[in-house]
Formats: sequence, C-alpha cells, structure tokens
Amino acid sequence: MVPVIALVGRPNVGKSTLFNCLTRSRDALVANYAGLTRDRKYGEADIAGRRCIVIDTGGISGDETGIDTIMAGQSLQAIDEADSVLFMVDCRDGLTPADAMIAKHLRVTGKRTYLVANKIDGLNHDLAVAPFYELGLGDIYATTATHGRGVKTLMQAVLDGC
Ligand code: GDP
Ligand code: MG
Repeated sequence: MVPVIALVGRPNVGKSTLFNCLTRSRDALVANYAGLTRDRKYGEADIAGRRCIVIDTGGISGDETGIDTIMAGQSLQAIDEADSVLFMVDCRDGLTPADAMIAKHLRVTGKRTYLVANKIDGLNHDLAVAPFYELGLGDIYATTATHGRGVKTLMQAVLDGC
C-alpha cells in the first residue's frame, strides 16, 4: 500500500512549497497570492526510499463563500482520501481562528494528523510553536519549507506512523 499524505491548511501557509519540496517538482503553483492553487494536485514523493502520494490543496480559510466553498470541499475530499494529514500553520501569523476550526474538523475525522508549524526561519523556535499546542494535536513539527528544514524529521514521523 502506497501511503497517501494530504497537505491542508489556510491559504499561504506554505503547502505548495512543501509539496514541491517533497515531490521535487515545481508543478504546484507557488505564489504570494492567498488561495491561488484552486485544485487538489497529486504528486509522487520518495521518502527515505519509500514511495508516497502527496496531495496539495487550495486551502481552507474558515469563512468560505463562493469559489472558496469549492476549495474547502477539495480540501475536505483530500483529507478523506489520505492516510495521513499534514496540517500546516504559519508561525508568522500565529494561531488563527481558522486554524482552530481546521484542527477541530481533523479531530472529528480521527485522521492521523501531523501539525506542521511552517515559516520558523528567523523566529525563536519555542516561542513560535508554543501557541499551537492549544490545538491539541500533539507533537509539533517546525519547518522552513522554502529550505527543506525540518522536513526529514517530519516525514520520518509520518512514515513511522504508516
Ligand atoms: P500555500 O498557499 O499554502 O500553498 O502557500 P505557498 O506554498 O504558495 O507559499 C506562500 C508564500 O509563503 C510563498 O511566498 C512562499 O515562498 C512562502 N513560504 C513558504 N514556506 C516558507 C517558509 O518556510 N519560510 C518563509 N519565510 N516563507 C515561506
Ligand atoms: Mg498552494
């Protein structure tokens, strides 16, 4: 069985950047514009010699209307399809109500979830991750997706859990 891993979280937290890092492609559209990647996108990753399917998603903002409702639907579908979910949050933004809403949904689904605190670069690690423990999702994996930092540790934990 090939593990399927979904990347979910608010727009702009770094999902497509991590997707590119994992799949070593530049296929997912990475941009500064919140919510640009509208559709789910599938890629293949080789994690320590093991093949995985990674799903990039357009993001859930927590107050969807119009097209964002569809985007949220895509994210919910990706969560459904996945064996494991990487729930990404942005250390620079800190904990937001939308993060709390997504965490609540993930707890209800009971899906194996890894909390990824991205954009840790230039921040004090302990101070930056502290607010996110409130989400009640256990261990927090701090990453800098743009440089691949923390990604190996994160993916080792994901594979160990598969
Ligand atoms: P998505 O909307 O969740 O897919 O987010 P993107 O992957 O498109 O990234 C949004 C922006 O955040 C882009 O400008 C990225 O270069 C930037 N970004 C992603 N990861 C990091 C990181 O670890 N540190 C910093 N400083 N910026 C990042
Ligand atoms: Mg994206």
